[in-house]
Parts: sequence; C-alpha cells; structure tokens
Amino acid sequence: MAARKLHVKKNDMVMIIAGKEKGKSGKVMRVLPEKERVLVENLNKIKRHTRATRTNAEGGIIEREAPLALSNVQLICKACSKPTRTGIRVLENGSKARFCKKCNEIVDK
Ligand SMILES: [Zn+2]
Repeated sequence: MAARKLHVKKNDMVMIIAGKEKGKSGKVMRVLPEKERVLVENLNKIKRHTRATRTNAEGGIIEREAPLALSNVQLICKACSKPTRTGIRVLENGSKARFCKKCNEIVDK
C-alpha cells in the first residue's frame, strides 16, 4: 500500500477544527501516519492517575497529550495565519512543497 499523503508534519502549527478542542491551535509534536493521528503540544490532554513506582516515587496524576484525528486538524498558514487546506506544488528545482489554498503561498520553506 502506498504511503498516504499527510497534510501536516512535525513542527507544523495546526488548528483543531472539530471536537471538544475546536478552535485551539498548537505545534505538532508527532504524526502517527499508520493511525492517521497526530499529537499536538498542550492540546487534547488527558489525565492519568499513576501509582508510585521506582522511577516515579510520588505517583499521582500525569497529564499527557492524546492523539487527535488527522482529519480534525488543519495547517495554519504562516503567510496568512489562517487554518487552511493545502495542495502540493512542484517547485522549479523539482522538489514538492505544500501550498496554502487560501493565499497560494508555499508553506514548506
Ligand atoms: Zn495562506
């Protein structure tokens, strides 16, 4: 099976467009292509209660990000600062880059 084209990458700024965190934005920490999910810094946090262990003597509550569905996030364009859909454009040097469908600027630089 061919690799699915992903519209977001690590370190992109994205906005959540659906779900309980809708309208919030953050930086992509990790993309999980096989699960079609993405981890966004400080968003969609879940609390986990942990017991004291040898490495975590206190135990208690740990907060961590839960992955979001890729279809629920949109890239925030650096040029127009809006969440947008992206297209793929072939540059003069033959490499491919994503462009913003709102303002037409290349997003990958
Ligand atoms: Zn734009």
